[in-house]
Amino acid sequence: MSAAAPSIADDLRRLATLGATPLGIDRRLFTPSDRAARAQFVAWARADGRRVTQDRAGNVFAQRAGRRAAAPILTGSHLDTVPTGGPYDGAYGAVAALWALRRLDQDAVDTEFPLEAVAWAGEEGSRFPLGCLGSSAFAGLNDLASLEALWDDDGVSFAAARDGVNGLLRGVALRDETRAPSAYVELHIEQGPVLENRGVRLGNVTAIAGQRRFEIEVTGESGHAGTVPMGLRHDALVAAAEIVVALEAEAAANDSVVVTVGRLVVEPNQTNVIPRRVTFRVDARSIDESVLTRIAADVVATAERIGARRGVHVAVASIERRAAVAMDARLRSALAEAFASLGEEALDLPSGAGHDAMCVAAIAPAAMIFVPSAGGRSHVGDEFTSPADLDLGVAALAQALVTIDRRMAKEG
Ligand SMILES: [Zn+2]
Repeated sequence: MSAAAPSIADDLRRLATLGATPLGIDRRLFTPSDRAARAQFVAWARADGRRVTQDRAGNVFAQRAGRRAAAPILTGSHLDTVPTGGPYDGAYGAVAALWALRRLDQDAVDTEFPLEAVAWAGEEGSRFPLGCLGSSAFAGLNDLASLEALWDDDGVSFAAARDGVNGLLRGVALRDETRAPSAYVELHIEQGPVLENRGVRLGNVTAIAGQRRFEIEVTGESGHAGTVPMGLRHDALVAAAEIVVALEAEAAANDSVVVTVGRLVVEPNQTNVIPRRVTFRVDARSIDESVLTRIAADVVATAERIGARRGVHVAVASIERRAAVAMDARLRSALAEAFASLGEEALDLPSGAGHDAMCVAAIAPAAMIFVPSAGGRSHVGDEFTSPADLDLGVAALAQALVTIDRRMAKEG
């Protein structure tokens, strides 16, 4: 191979210039950088001779014909980022889908089912307050009217942004019919440290974790930091701190759940005033629904017990609930066969992060492939996956598409 051979790492470097900031990449849905990324995806797909379409949610599709006029095997990920995102989260899976299809062209591999690459719109929920926006619309989990009624922080509606200059792409045909794919495979960076720590380069995702989020409001009594004796205080922050530490201990005693408190608001938040009220959020995740149900009960019981002992009022509200989504067993078996045919060891592992695959799984068999993330870092500018691992992921995806096609064709 010559030194000048193009690589997917080059393409991702090029995409990373779109929305680049000192802290990372800011490519929120329907901004100039997001539009440029979708336009680049279209340009690459058309250079490969693909037929490109988009839907009214902003998703972009590039199809490679199959021998049959059947629903396609779909593969891809998202091009949008969080405000301080990295070059690989999402973009890798979308661009790799194009690379996998191109590899099959080069190897003159025909498939029975059409293959389709997709760039999902707005997975991160960073502009409009809905995660997996594009894939949830595609899967019929949210209808177009409910998307169009969303507003961003600047008071711009989804409909206005989509219909503006940075919205839908000019010259790309609209598809108004949502047709469930025959299967869906998403390639993504792990965004965690497990593959790297185990020295394995491919992950076969077992399930995407379910999630429960709570907001806990602790109300005590304010007072002068110098005059109220310790024994007479009802300090809301110390009570909140005790709850946080107790939840950590409960989670640490159970391998299959992670619990995080990442947001906490202290009032009045003054050096010389005893905190009157603390509002904080708990995020609990597990691929085991029964564990989540138990943790949810524990969160309420722990907060109330500590609140009662400290003489503060505690109110727990459930603010988000998302069920765990298992990946399709037959697709996972096809991935395992594909990885083995490449001579690659793979690890079965759950995904603690949410992905478009969990939405598409509502209408089609879905599976995910992970490649390692250096240091497990993600949603930061220095997110990194080695070029060799990026290439291996493309090879694994291409092989997986062929294996899935062959198996589904045999089933009729
Ligand atoms: Zn992602």
